[in-house]
Amino acid sequence: MDFTLSAQQLELQERAKAAGAALRGRSAEWDRSNKVPYSEVVEHVRAHGLLGLTMPTEYGGQGLTAMDYLITVEAMFRNSQFWAIGEPLFATAGPGPCMVMMAESQTTRDKFLPDLVTGARQCAIALTEPDFGSDLTSLVTTAERRGDDWVLNGKKNFVTGATVNQLYAVFVRFDDIAGHRGIGAVIVEEGMPGVTIEAGPEFLGCRGIPHGDLTLENVVIPVENIIRGPGSFGDLMTAFNMERLHNCAFNLGMAGAAYDEAERFVRERVAFGRPLAEFQAVYHALVDMWTDLEALRLMARNAAASAIDGNYPRALETTAAKLYGARVASQITLKALELHGGYGATTNYAIERIHRDVVATIVAGGSPPVLRNAIAALILPGVSVSQRSAGAPQMAPVS
Ligand SMILES: Cc1cc2nc3c(=O)[nH]c(=O)nc-3n(C[C@H](O)[C@H](O)[C@H](O)COP(=O)(O)OP(=O)(O)OC[C@H]3O[C@@H](n4cnc5c(N)ncnc54)[C@H](O)[C@@H]3O)c2cc1C
Repeated sequence: MDFTLSAQQLELQERAKAAGAALRGRSAEWDRSNKVPYSEVVEHVRAHGLLGLTMPTEYGGQGLTAMDYLITVEAMFRNSQFWAIGEPLFATAGPGPCMVMMAESQTTRDKFLPDLVTGARQCAIALTEPDFGSDLTSLVTTAERRGDDWVLNGKKNFVTGATVNQLYAVFVRFDDIAGHRGIGAVIVEEGMPGVTIEAGPEFLGCRGIPHGDLTLENVVIPVENIIRGPGSFGDLMTAFNMERLHNCAFNLGMAGAAYDEAERFVRERVAFGRPLAEFQAVYHALVDMWTDLEALRLMARNAAASAIDGNYPRALETTAAKLYGARVASQITLKALELHGGYGATTNYAIERIHRDVVATIVAGGSPPVLRNAIAALILPGVSVSQRSAGAPQMAPVS
């Protein structure tokens, strides 16, 4: 497959690099204070023309491809060296907006998409619950019909962008239907009566914007806020292939930033009368890091290229790239930290923050064992790979 970038993609990549580099100097302070001036970041990304990248032009989006998204987000991360810079792209073209695109009703799409793709109101995703993370099909947040409306009750946690987003795409269980068959998704709007959005615990990495809690107490939503009703778990999960692609771009960009920092350090630092870069063990380490990055980039581009004819990237390629990225990115950032010697452990160098950001995301969007389960279900037809104990409802295969 030919992954040579077109002139348009090269221009996009340059714009994304500039957007990232302009904010790099502020990353350390945003991490230390655990406070990102998020609306300023959104306006910065908007000014560089990078919102709603892959969303349809009819709703105000840019109609670009998953490959364009990957290239852009990787460049933003590598040059800003900070995770939160990617959030406005994620919230205007990631799984939240993609789920709304999949809404059963045109009324739902018309109500939310114009705001979503232009960033007027942005969308976080709320799947995880305090008692059910990997075991998503056991979730207990409920949606019950009351006349023409629906009433929501439950709690979601680890919602990235809680308190800074205005819309939340929430996985719920309809009418107490058991297992994956009861699951669908709704849009919860900030400010609806009964909605509480809180910051949640402090994180070791990916700091500055909360990964917080969304509590729903008798929240009444109109029918047009239903994205998909029960029985749509498998379909909805295809939107999360865009999340996995985003995770790949994150791992590529941040591990690339770690490589850049390590290379610069070992070129400048002298030991035994020579730059560190001239010791074989050191340049071999750089070569291994570079090679792993190259392999990850090829896997990620292969996944992005599987999104054809308006479909999202395919589950198998995207999940494999996300699984590989979660492993090699943290290995690369750890090696880069080690190559800084004792300085790598200080807050004077960017590498410790880059490493913390990468480690913080290893389980986000699916932990490695759960991704392996999903891949096994796709590559081993006929083999039972269910993790459930006997008698429990079966998990839906994610196609
Ligand atoms: C930085 C960050 C951002 C996040 N953002 C969001 C967000 O925006 N929205 C959202 O909904 N969620 C979000 N999450 C939550 C994330 O999706 C969950 O943390 C993840 O799915 C794991 O769920 P859990 O934390 O409940 O762990 P658990 O499911 O309790 O898993 C704990 C451990 O057990 C292992 N395990 C579980 N099941 C199996 C199995 N069948 N076989 C082998 N091992 C298993 C896991 O791999 C893990 O190591 C975020 C998490 C992080 C860290």
